[in-house]
Amino acid sequence: MSSPSDMPNSTLGGWSPELPLTVPALLLWPPQPRKVLKYLFGFPGLFFPWMALYAAIAVGLWGLLKWSGSDVAHLSLGWIALVLVCNEVIAASFYGAWHYLLYRRRAQGVRFKYNPNWPKERGDKFLFGRPMASNVFWSLVSGVPIWTAYLVLTLWAQAAGIAPVTTWSGSPIYCALLMFALPFFHAVQFYFGHRAIHWPPLYNRVHYLHHANLNPSPWTGLAMHPVEHLVYFSGALLLWIVPSTPIHVIYFVTLVGLAPAEGHCGFGKVAVGQSGFTTDNYYHYLHHKFVRVNFGDSLLIPLDRLFGTFHDGIRRVR
Ligand SMILES: [Zn+2]
Ligand SMILES: [Zn+2]
Repeated sequence: MSSPSDMPNSTLGGWSPELPLTVPALLLWPPQPRKVLKYLFGFPGLFFPWMALYAAIAVGLWGLLKWSGSDVAHLSLGWIALVLVCNEVIAASFYGAWHYLLYRRRAQGVRFKYNPNWPKERGDKFLFGRPMASNVFWSLVSGVPIWTAYLVLTLWAQAAGIAPVTTWSGSPIYCALLMFALPFFHAVQFYFGHRAIHWPPLYNRVHYLHHANLNPSPWTGLAMHPVEHLVYFSGALLLWIVPSTPIHVIYFVTLVGLAPAEGHCGFGKVAVGQSGFTTDNYYHYLHHKFVRVNFGDSLLIPLDRLFGTFHDGIRRVR
């Protein structure tokens, strides 16, 4: 009998992208510059719209802190509360919008949906016996405060001279390259952090909570145990070593905090008229389905391949 991870895609039902999954354009060999440019800068691509949105949020939030006269060199309740409220509003709006469009209004029905069934409304494994309420609770009551804690402490460390800083005017190319590099750093950090919490003692006490969602939807994304949130957002510690600016710090934690909404939306495309807005999350959908495959995100197929944990949507590739 084959193991669950060897089951063919046809047993999943629902929609799937073209299978088998292959490495993203960036990693094709020989290099294909046109595809790489489209992958990076096309719409939708790696940077547009999402990274650009996270950068805009960073500029806006940092502008608000400056405008309000916040002194981030000193940890005081006023500006910490302001950042927490902003992050709660940003997270609730962003996850809420994905959920409202695809799952409450069901604007496109099950068109492009990987799992043809809708998530269950009740489940014993969840807080309150309600998956949706439980996911919102863990996201907003644990996820956003821990996201905010990393953000506040890193901004404070920069302003207090503990973490290294640079400036956009002094090092514009370095600053731009760092914006470019941070999503890749997050992907690598996510891979190893994720592997670590699949260690059975941690899985059974911590990561089981995220995996209770067998049929993910946007609010699944940040529904994690507090210990997992601590691991998940810990990539921000990089900016305690590598010179950066407050914009980089806010951009990075916002990217880490919001990206899981799309990553768990459960649809391969968000339909717009007759065409569609492509998402890139089938890779992680397979992780929720088969659990012990695809620990990274789709940028990191080579790492999953290297460790024998790559599932290409048809079979596990060793
Ligand atoms: Zn997940
Ligand atoms: Zn996992």
